[in-house]
Amino acid sequence: MKTWAYLIGGLLGLVGVIFIIAAGQGNAIPRIVIGLVLLGAGIFVARIARMKVPDQRIIQEIDLSGDVRPEEMKCNACGGPLDKDSVSVRAGGIFVDCPYCGTSYQIEEEPKW
Ligand SMILES: [Zn+2]
Repeated sequence: MKTWAYLIGGLLGLVGVIFIIAAGQGNAIPRIVIGLVLLGAGIFVARIARMKVPDQRIIQEIDLSGDVRPEEMKCNACGGPLDKDSVSVRAGGIFVDCPYCGTSYQIEEEPKW
């Protein structure tokens, strides 16, 4: 989703720049107007995409540092107790690496501990 927004924003901006450059070859005013509109739309899309990223990171940090009670965390595979070092946030998800059975899995949506 984020990647797509950046891709679309970048593409819009690129086409906008091409239109502005093409304005030098004649038919200047409509090409500059179209170019500026596309460039503006591209910046707008990229800005929306950028706004969503820090929000997700903040939520993940709160999830890990806030309500986590280590004594209630257990491995899904072997039931061994997990400490905070076994949990990590990477690639936009919360991952558990069990030190007892070596199982590594992602916790999706809300943690149930
Ligand atoms: Zn385990």
